Amino acid sequence: MPELPEVETCRRSLDRWTRDRRVDRIEFLDPRSIRDRRGDRPSAASERAADRVREIVTGHSPVATRRHGKRLLWTWPRGCLLLHLGMTGKWTRLPSPFTKLRLHLDDGSAINFADPRLLGGVVPCTAAAGAAWLVEGLGPDAWDAPLPRFTGSRPIKVALMDQARVAGLGNLHAAEALWRAGIDPRCPSGDTTSRHEALEAGVRAQLGLALDELGENDEITYVEEAGAANPFPVYQRQGEACPRCAGEIARMVQAGRSTYWCPGCQR
Ligand SMILES: [Zn+2]
Repeated sequence: MPELPEVETCRRSLDRWTRDRRVDRIEFLDPRSIRDRRGDRPSAASERAADRVREIVTGHSPVATRRHGKRLLWTWPRGCLLLHLGMTGKWTRLPSPFTKLRLHLDDGSAINFADPRLLGGVVPCTAAAGAAWLVEGLGPDAWDAPLPRFTGSRPIKVALMDQARVAGLGNLHAAEALWRAGIDPRCPSGDTTSRHEALEAGVRAQLGLALDELGENDEITYVEEAGAANPFPVYQRQGEACPRCAGEIARMVQAGRSTYWCPGCQR
């Protein structure tokens, strides 16, 4: 599932692929991925939205990409596109059976939006609406801004995933960051104040490593995909040895999500 590193890697790829390029034409292979409003389901796909997307990109070069947390905005001279990756979406160079949308560039190359589960999509909007959507309801970005100090009794893993407090961390990277920080995911948020530097360093290290890892390839791969490698020290490694203390990695459920952690070295 896309979290900050995956979305940021997508953003960097789109920038790289479209630098000094113009879009000659757009191909809608599955129109259900184009919607009028964010939050709309594939069944709400709209021809009007598709016309608007075509108008925004055809004959133009993108102006900029912007990311905040897990949100991604693509700005063009005549409007913006909100890019939702959903659970399985990604932008790719190579076509796949799951390609929903294709932009043909003026050098003969193409870029594709693939989305097997069709939970992501593209929404056209004005520049003002796009800028507002990018940050609406979100806390500071987990990569670009200092980590906020947490208070209260909520477990720190749950607090790290609260996008209104800090934007970008999801289930996987929050748990890995806590392992790097050596902090028990159940620790009440307020009790992490004295270990704030370790927590922030854990988040930075985790996001930095994930960005480096993802950046080695042209396209992102989700760890949930069939056949994908698992580069993470604790994620889905219940029962395996902790790379730091050789204790046994455990799994527990917090706020309905699996948390992987090491009871041996996370206190
Ligand atoms: Zn350990």
